Amino acid sequence: MTQAKADGGRTDERAKVLFGLLVDDVDRRMNPNDDECWHCDGEGYVADCFDGFCVDAEGGCEECTRRCPECARYSYNRLKAIREEVIKSGDVDIAREWLRSVGRWSDDISTEQITQHLEDARAAISSSRSDQQ
Ligand SMILES: [Zn+2]
Ligand SMILES: [Zn+2]
Repeated sequence: MTQAKADGGRTDERAKVLFGLLVDDVDRRMNPNDDECWHCDGEGYVADCFDGFCVDAEGGCEECTRRCPECARYSYNRLKAIREEVIKSGDVDIAREWLRSVGRWSDDISTEQITQHLEDARAAISSSRSDQQ
């Protein structure tokens, strides 16, 4: 009697698994050896300190510690690559998982809207590709 609910749950599970695989694929492609960031050793922060001005010239202080620009660049490129893979998959359920993962999901979004968005995005990607050629 909970047939409909169970089916919905399965679709969700399937989409979660597929989205997870898609993300893994992107990670493997972008960082096959699972390397730490060369700039900050995976800390996510870098310190730009001047000797004598800093409480802790080695580790950096609050004043001069900032987010690692290489990590920011990497995560931007990674998100962009994931978005492209989602669009290429053309799978509404995967797209829904992706929207959830980037915090852009809302219950008002209909399947039709996602389909339309996927089509628009795919057209945009292929036209920007041909522009570059
Ligand atoms: Zn400092
Ligand atoms: Zn970094």
